[in-house]
Amino acid sequence: MNEKMLNLGNNRSIIRELFEFSKGQKEKIGADKVYDFTLGNPSVPPHKLVDETIKELLDTQTPSSNHGYTSAPGDNEVRDVIAKDLNKRFGTNYKLTDLYMTCGAAASLCITFRALTEKPTDEILAIAPYFTEYKVFVESAGATFKLVPADLKTFEINFPELEKMLNKNTKAIIVNSPNNPSGVIYSEKALKQLAELLEKKEKEYGHAIYIVCDEPYREIAYDGLKVAHIPSLYKDTVVCYSYSKSLSLPGERIGYILVPQQAADSKDLYAACLGAGRAYGYVCAPSLFQKVITKCASVTSDMNEYAKNRDLLYNGLTKIGFECVYPQGAFYLFVKSPEEDANKFMERAKKYNIVVVPSDGFGVKGYVRLAYCVSSSTIINSLPAFEELMKEYK
Ligand code: PLP
Repeated sequence: MNEKMLNLGNNRSIIRELFEFSKGQKEKIGADKVYDFTLGNPSVPPHKLVDETIKELLDTQTPSSNHGYTSAPGDNEVRDVIAKDLNKRFGTNYKLTDLYMTCGAAASLCITFRALTEKPTDEILAIAPYFTEYKVFVESAGATFKLVPADLKTFEINFPELEKMLNKNTKAIIVNSPNNPSGVIYSEKALKQLAELLEKKEKEYGHAIYIVCDEPYREIAYDGLKVAHIPSLYKDTVVCYSYSKSLSLPGERIGYILVPQQAADSKDLYAACLGAGRAYGYVCAPSLFQKVITKCASVTSDMNEYAKNRDLLYNGLTKIGFECVYPQGAFYLFVKSPEEDANKFMERAKKYNIVVVPSDGFGVKGYVRLAYCVSSSTIINSLPAFEELMKEYK
């Protein structure tokens, strides 16, 4: 048996562990009495165009039209539609041949890391707090994962720490904005500073350092805030996108990799992505959902629901005395644990049937993450329980 895989299989992520705990509690005492904030499973239904398109596709199908293999990078039609949609939104000039359809962001990231790295000394950096699976994905590609410590004041990029960590083995840095778990959208100023720093380091080391944008939350931004299109700020950028959150389709596994032609060695990088997808056995992205995206690339689920939930939860918890990072995007609230050890706080919260994820796994200590992609009644009903919980600290 492969020890590493055995370990991965046997040790579920804490999020999954807690999700299973919630499930058990819901069966025992009733779903409405458990306040489960563990999973980033969209609570808002897909846009109605998604369901209409699926129905239409099923009604008009020929034997192989919906479920057959597509070419490995995806159908031309869907890639053309996505390229045009991106060009319209970001003033770019992408072509269908810059896009590779994948089974969601997780697949996009695994493929990109495998394509970009060759030896164990190759390093991929992520910025804390971060999506825990990055470490698994990078290490499975055979490379080294390194974490840039968080800027605990702003949760933006910690430049002094980042600068110390960049070296000639750095192949890429992952940028996830809007961020899971902090909800922060990195400012354009910070991203420009990052671009300048990487350009300087590329010259110093004589090779490309890529930004890998992990963008499943690109469409979930509040208060009219804009999420910067990073390839427009830094040429050596690869985008890993997913429709899991924007169209509420996480179980359908559909997303893409964008390798802009401007990126260093873009042709080889694109080919290496195809190679990595082949080596991982992805074959092609789900055929039916490639067709769905052809029709739905420019719509999203109703993000107003998440905005309402953000306000309910943020206002409710801060009123009780919790300190929270104000979320600008995504659907997570990062809450400071009232005791130093977030794991102890998580255990204490369980007594009130509140299930939250301690932040240690996200690379920051002393916080918990609440996924507020839940019904608003869950939030409203949870607040008295939070109030009782907070009393323990007063
Ligand atoms: N990246 C981040 C930051 C995420 O939060 C998630 C899922 O929650 C993923 C990637 C994986 O998304 P997908 O379902 O598209 O594989």
